[in-house]
Amino acid sequence: MPELPEVETTRRGLLPHVAGRHVDHVLLRRPDLRWPIPDAVRERLPGQRIHAVRRRAKYLLADTDAGSALLHLGMSGMLRVLPPETPVGPHDHVDIGLDSGRVLRFTDPRRFGSLLWQPPGEVHPLLAGLGPEPLDPAFDGAHLARLAQGRRAPVKTFLMDQAVVVGVGNIYAAEALFQAGIDPRRAAGRVSDARFEALAAAVKAILAHAITRGGTTLRDFLNPDGAPGYFEQELWVYGRAGEPCKRCGRTLKGAVIGQRASTWCPACQR
Ligand SMILES: [Zn+2]
Repeated sequence: MPELPEVETTRRGLLPHVAGRHVDHVLLRRPDLRWPIPDAVRERLPGQRIHAVRRRAKYLLADTDAGSALLHLGMSGMLRVLPPETPVGPHDHVDIGLDSGRVLRFTDPRRFGSLLWQPPGEVHPLLAGLGPEPLDPAFDGAHLARLAQGRRAPVKTFLMDQAVVVGVGNIYAAEALFQAGIDPRRAAGRVSDARFEALAAAVKAILAHAITRGGTTLRDFLNPDGAPGYFEQELWVYGRAGEPCKRCGRTLKGAVIGQRASTWCPACQR
């Protein structure tokens, strides 16, 4: 599944080809993805200038004066800017034609992605109630400590709660908790302020690094330029249950926490 770094990498890859362009036409090859595609996408987008391509959590927003197209890559979605004569494949569901002559093409074999519409001045319901961006200064240890007060949920589940902070998926939560030395099963309300500072710092460092590397984790994910995303060598715990800890040599433990596969080191994480 594309995680936040892949979505941010996609945004950065699209930006020079999309921002400042006018939409020539919108071609929907099916009426729905995960949800029905609102009529506004087809009716309001053509003729509009795309001022910016923003990211909020794992959503991308193409902003115009008429509103914003809101895109989510779901499990297997991919956005590319292609020459118009590029052959159309069975999973190429949406083309947004640009005045450059190219098309912004949304491809999604599993169709868990979405294309929605946010009217000007409004916040789409899917974006309401989200916590801060992990790389925003508003996200820090004090923020985590404040929200964790009295919470008995495992700290890993807490960290993956989109109302606490957005975009920290299973892989990054596991890796950040390892870097901060925190047992993922520990109750969120029983993590010290100092350790929350370390956790927030680890989340920022891991995500920022993953973004510089072009995103990480999905084998069938392709960057907008067609280069495969990088993977795996830098994972300390995720997916390694039963293998030795790269730091201390103890066997890594695995369990399901909050319905998600989780791995940690019983010596390095307390
Ligand atoms: Zn260890």
